[in-house]
Amino acid sequence: MVLGNEHDVNLAVAAAKEAYKTFSQTTKEERIAYLQKLHDAVAKRQDELVAVMVLEYGGTYQFCKNSVNNMLSAFTTAMATLNTFEFERTVGNSKVLMQPLGVVGLITPWNSSNSFICNKLATAISAGSTVVIKPSEMSAMQTQLLLECFHEAGLPKGVFNVVNGLGTVVGNAITNHPDIAKISFTGSTVVGKSIARGAIDTLKRVTLELGGKSPNVILDDANLETAIPMAVAAAYMNSGQACIAGTRLLVPEHKLDEVNSLVKAAVEKVKVGNPADHDTAVGPMVSKKQYERVQGYIKLGLEEGAKLLIGGEGHPEGLEAGNFVKPTVFTNVKNSMRIAREEIFGPVLSIIAYKDEEDAIAIANDTDYGLQAYVNSSDDARAKRVASRIIAGRVMINALSHDPQAPFGGFKQSGIGREFGVFGLEEYVEPKTLLV
Ligand code: NAD
Repeated sequence: MVLGNEHDVNLAVAAAKEAYKTFSQTTKEERIAYLQKLHDAVAKRQDELVAVMVLEYGGTYQFCKNSVNNMLSAFTTAMATLNTFEFERTVGNSKVLMQPLGVVGLITPWNSSNSFICNKLATAISAGSTVVIKPSEMSAMQTQLLLECFHEAGLPKGVFNVVNGLGTVVGNAITNHPDIAKISFTGSTVVGKSIARGAIDTLKRVTLELGGKSPNVILDDANLETAIPMAVAAAYMNSGQACIAGTRLLVPEHKLDEVNSLVKAAVEKVKVGNPADHDTAVGPMVSKKQYERVQGYIKLGLEEGAKLLIGGEGHPEGLEAGNFVKPTVFTNVKNSMRIAREEIFGPVLSIIAYKDEEDAIAIANDTDYGLQAYVNSSDDARAKRVASRIIAGRVMINALSHDPQAPFGGFKQSGIGREFGVFGLEEYVEPKTLLV
């Protein structure tokens, strides 16, 4: 990959700005037709798109297949949203026109790079905006294949522009560019904050999808036989490298022993290994650096006095060659420990005991993050009541799934704004009042 620089960003922004003049004037029907073409071009190469994810960062086939499905649903959802979206509204005596913001900068992480790009691009196109995309520097092969699809879709020149490169160079140039009206960023909280700071000078709008430390509340009436395997899957999705991973398992203290043994049994069944195998649940970490980071947290958990239930430091047996880590669970974890507060981004689960429902809610909310939560109960009304009190952008009730129409995003330091569906599109338009 050739690393781009500020000059490349200037060229890309100029092209996007020129294309915006006509693209912002397109009709809903024209935009839907472009979205359909993008969808079809991506659908044609979906097997290759899965394969390149597995190859480039060691994502498991299971996860990558889902991620490519999300790429496709990004376009179909955008088309459905656009169909019913009102760009012209009557408010009081005025007409309100919902206008595209201008050129949008899209900055994405490596852990599901192409699906983030597809969703952000689909929303920008729906609004009538043109874009400059900066994918993760760790996703060059995935970006290359996706761009081949985008090119085949035959969009007007300048509607999408991609500049590969480092965040501190290309990302920074996008953040500071006066001709970019908005940034939609997915990535770490620390970088999100620096983008928000930089964006303020030109008053760019920002949508920030950041990190998480999601609580998974097992209420005392939950069916543990189903809830626990699902909790392990929620913690280890994308080999633990997921912003929405359910990494804090909150369990009633009188059920701690039972949960410990069920979790241990579920983790023993987790297959770690070749990510291309369809039954592999945990593949290697994305990089040596990430491997070492996770090892550091496992060591820290031991030092902090958490009890190791399964896993631990080092490689799993027979997988010494790659960046594989042992699926790890700590129990008797206190929510004040760093392993319970910081995003580890690896297959490390913390089990935390609570006294009663109030205590569970308090622990769930005792975090800087607020992206996602999970609640398990056999009583729907009770689960919804608890879910309504957890500060998180999305709460899964007895579930582990995704709804591409529903808003997604974080409270607190998990971000600003929402993506997907109508709520996502609203963030790419600005109301203009016409008072005659
Ligand atoms: P990261 O923040 O290091 O990088 C994300 C992107 O930002 C990359 O393209 C990077 O090059 C760019 N970047 C880095 N420094 C920059 C700067 N100073 N200015 C502008 N851009 C810059 O994140 P990552 O390691 O690629 O991804 C993992 C993180 O992303 C985790 O914290 C995870 O929780 C988060 N994430 C959040 C969501 C969500 O939807 N909320 C989804 C996936 C990942």
